[in-house]
Amino acid sequence: MAKHPLPTIDPGRSEFGLARTVCDCTDCVLNCRFLPGYLVPADLSRIGEHLAPDEDLLAWSREHLLASPGAQVMRDDRVFRIRTLVPARREDGACRFLTAADRCAIHPVAPFGCAFFDTHQTREDSDARSKLGLQAVLEAWQSGDTYAQVWAMLAEAGRVAPPPEVCRAQMRWADDPS
Ligand code: SF4
Repeated sequence: MAKHPLPTIDPGRSEFGLARTVCDCTDCVLNCRFLPGYLVPADLSRIGEHLAPDEDLLAWSREHLLASPGAQVMRDDRVFRIRTLVPARREDGACRFLTAADRCAIHPVAPFGCAFFDTHQTREDSDARSKLGLQAVLEAWQSGDTYAQVWAMLAEAGRVAPPPEVCRAQMRWADDPS
């Protein structure tokens, strides 16, 4: 018997040819509490325009986003990080967009790292999806895209997120303190 209701597919939103998944089970919401998903470059203006269409993107980002040191990846036997933008946190460490009812306040435009992942996917599926997202972020860095400029501005202002491996360890402990 399945432990949780299975995620549903939302064909109304796609990225890199993938359809988003939708799930609000306890395990998926745990990510919102400890490891909010990263933005891909297309998310930046999409979320900004959804929340504050008349606000300057840099000013908006400073309030709502953090610079994360990003995921560790290996290429050509070399380990390095791809720096990402992630949602800012509440005082308790949870994503600032997580509502009191444990729902996503920006669900229609949730970041790629949230909207296209759920805890029911296979490791292979989530790794393949993440590879596409991180490649887009890497290209944004290589081209000096607004994404990279916003990250640098946030880092300079000290608006930084903990490394994902630290968030993941905290999440594992919260899920199973034994
Ligand atoms: S943006 Fe939404 S889905 Fe993503 S971590 Fe925050 S509350 Fe969760």
